[in-house]
Amino acid sequence: MAKLVFLGSGGGRYAMATQARATGGFTIEMDGVSFHVDPGPGALVRAKQYGVNVKNTDVVMVSHVHLDHSNDCNAIIDAMTEGAKNPKGVLIGNVSAIKGYENDTPVMLKIYLKSLESTVVMRPSDTTSIKNISVKATPTKHTDPTAVGFRIEGSKTISYTSDTEYFPGLFKHHKNADLLIINMLRPDNDSWPMHMNLEDAVNLIKEATPRLCVLQHFGMKVIERGPEKQAKKAEKETGVRVIAAEDGMKLDLNKSSTPLSKYTGK
Ligand SMILES: [Zn+2]
Repeated sequence: MAKLVFLGSGGGRYAMATQARATGGFTIEMDGVSFHVDPGPGALVRAKQYGVNVKNTDVVMVSHVHLDHSNDCNAIIDAMTEGAKNPKGVLIGNVSAIKGYENDTPVMLKIYLKSLESTVVMRPSDTTSIKNISVKATPTKHTDPTAVGFRIEGSKTISYTSDTEYFPGLFKHHKNADLLIINMLRPDNDSWPMHMNLEDAVNLIKEATPRLCVLQHFGMKVIERGPEKQAKKAEKETGVRVIAAEDGMKLDLNKSSTPLSKYTGK
């Protein structure tokens, strides 16, 4: 069993500030465990909007400290621990989010760290497990040098690049997943340091050969050019089913490679 809800599909400063696309991260329900990955600004609001009960969250995962990935992690933990009164759950995060990095303070408040059953700080190649699901941190090249991606292996394998530029060998950490989630900030060959564009995504998909790929974390230029058109180009070039995330999109990996439902309201 593996079901996902995308509580956003936007990324980068402008898409976040204007909420041109939502930035609440995504949730995964797999093998009896509920994950919330990268709860950016609006995660609580989007969860309510798209029918996700954040109280049921078991694991909060934060790939790095940038606001579009981490802003609402305290709010989600507050909701799942009933205001830090009922300790439960696991936080899996990178160094900058949990401990702080160089001159930046961590995003996690101490009161919420104490309200969790456990906290796992992950560096690339570190692994941990929750019930029968293993989580491995994958490497990135990003403006937060401690950023990680995640490879989550249970009855399905879901591999998430997080924010990174494309680099040779990146595919080895995301190979042959049932679902590869790529953060694609820019369209076509329009490059931006430390992030991927469509060309990069195509190269990664060709090398990593997932069963299904979802593109998300769209900046304004992708949004203007049309995420679905970008996904179609990637699909044509790779032969792999590629979906552009939409805010509120639900996926059931057991049923098919097409979204179960797409949110159509405002
Ligand atoms: Zn980032």
